[in-house]
Amino acid sequence: MNAAPIETFDYIIVGAGSAGCVLANRLTASGRHRVLLLEAGGHDRYLWIHIPLGYGKLFVDQRVNWLYASEPEPELNNRSVIQPRGKVLGGSSSINGLLYLRGQPEDYDHWRQLGNTGWSFDDVLPYFRRAEHQERGEDALHGVGGPLAVSNVCEPHPLCEAFIESAQQAGFPRNDDFNGPTQEGAGYFQLTAKNGRRWSTAVGYLRQARRRPNLAIATDALATRILLSGRRAVGIEYRQGDTTRTAQASREVILSGGAFNSPQLLQVSGIGPAPLLQQHGIEVIADMPGVGADLQDHLQVRIQYRCTEPITMNDVIRSWRHRMSAGLRYMLFRKGLLAIGAGYAGGFFRTSPAAATPDVQVHFIIFSGDSSGAALHPFPGFIASVCQLRPESRGFVHIKSADPAAAPAIQLRYLSSQFDRDVTVAGLKLLRRIMAQPAMRRFIAEERVPDPQVESDADLLAFARSAGTTVFHPTSTCRMGNDDTAVVDERLRVRGIGNLRVVDASIMPTVVSGNTNAAAVMIGEKGADMILHDAAAAPASMRLEPAG
Ligand SMILES: Cc1cc2nc3c(=O)[nH]c(=O)nc-3n(C[C@H](O)[C@H](O)[C@H](O)COP(=O)(O)OP(=O)(O)OC[C@H]3O[C@@H](n4cnc5c(N)ncnc54)[C@H](O)[C@@H]3O)c2cc1C
Repeated sequence: MNAAPIETFDYIIVGAGSAGCVLANRLTASGRHRVLLLEAGGHDRYLWIHIPLGYGKLFVDQRVNWLYASEPEPELNNRSVIQPRGKVLGGSSSINGLLYLRGQPEDYDHWRQLGNTGWSFDDVLPYFRRAEHQERGEDALHGVGGPLAVSNVCEPHPLCEAFIESAQQAGFPRNDDFNGPTQEGAGYFQLTAKNGRRWSTAVGYLRQARRRPNLAIATDALATRILLSGRRAVGIEYRQGDTTRTAQASREVILSGGAFNSPQLLQVSGIGPAPLLQQHGIEVIADMPGVGADLQDHLQVRIQYRCTEPITMNDVIRSWRHRMSAGLRYMLFRKGLLAIGAGYAGGFFRTSPAAATPDVQVHFIIFSGDSSGAALHPFPGFIASVCQLRPESRGFVHIKSADPAAAPAIQLRYLSSQFDRDVTVAGLKLLRRIMAQPAMRRFIAEERVPDPQVESDADLLAFARSAGTTVFHPTSTCRMGNDDTAVVDERLRVRGIGNLRVVDASIMPTVVSGNTNAAAVMIGEKGADMILHDAAAAPASMRLEPAG
């Protein structure tokens, strides 16, 4: 290994993902602060990142993906579940399904109720609006002119229309804006996309900022250790190729490595559960049992259908003539099947009157394959999946070795609560009820998976255990709060350690009731404001005191 000269910055951001790119932009905007942005992955030049449908290829592509997998999941018949994460500029916003959803206002009010002052929906709404460039225009809930482009899916599709109509026939409303006054109902999703191209945070935030002389971006740069002086962060050690480099932070080190990597970097740096660190021969700087605890995710269970008509994506991909015409439409008009993301339509529903707000989400997908990222079926097919929005089950991220390049142990402990098992089964029944309505029925040749004989609660639960998989929303491993095991306080400062914050999806006290990219961007926006506010309050020579 070679060593390189030490450089000094005001701020070092670890991870150029959904939140990290927001920070890099906002912290450098005034020109007053020098910032180093470290990204373990490379540039986002790969064409399929930018074409929304390319999403399907990125699941298994190690050039842009950490390709994690969970430990055997005890409640899922000991299966390991894939855990893709972006490893490229833009992070997971460069490989995700593009759906733009914020969750429910009640999620953020709940964060506030847990003691996190400044995180109620009224507090975070200005940051959602500031981030957004909403194609439909501005209103009380939506912003225009922000770096994150949000647009309508190009055109209605007969299967999606049938799904939405079926939901109405089953008694649910149509909803044309899941981020509007109410989340409940069925409709089309909006995408983080513009003119048919993906709008990652690397595209929206970093492109604008990258020519600023006060921003240095290091790609293929794996942060290996937080450098500490006592209980204060003073810099980062990182590896680029064969060279080990050191960068000093005169103000703060900010971790934005995501829900798996931020706790991992804390642990290998001596901040985490003491017994775990000692087991791997790491000196304990701060015994914090909460680092890597409380992991949450949404478990999705997919029902597969064979379609009566050749109108699904499976049929487009199978025929060269359809492929050519889809390619041409995309090139000429940026429309058509290449411009769609993970889910085309979907909905948010209540499985029982006891739920005050929707407790399950449905993703309706106009193609089918045996698993996420697998080859499409050679016949017309589509999928509808259901996921519980507010699971109780919590898992963990624990290092397996002191080597920062080794994958940590990840276990989500899906379905480990009876409540989660009940809502998942109720969600499957609700989905079947929607799919059984006349509008949808005419497109269903058969329910392929599970077998329609799978009907009892016990059988449906057994199906969820055998087929359930992630919908890619891990959070809460550096949970914000003011209790003993919370990792960061409400200003996102690591408790008991000076000059160190975590700003990414890992700080969510509870996973939001929807997809998590918009919330991670909002956390980046709000985090940047708090950092700049503290910088204005403290002269350059002063450092933050450790948070209590
Ligand atoms: C396949 C997939 C589909 C998804 N679909 C959707 C969707 O449709 N809609 C939605 O809202 N959400 C979706 N999500 C979830 C959403 O994208 C994430 O919740 C969000 O991007 C998380 O943001 P983050 O900033 O916490 O982390 P990330 O965006 O994952 O960023 C972390 C960054 O840090 C880098 N990094 C990590 N460790 C280090 C280190 N030690 N040194 C240097 N760099 C490091 C990583 O390479 C990465 O670039 C999806 C996610 C995936 C993976």
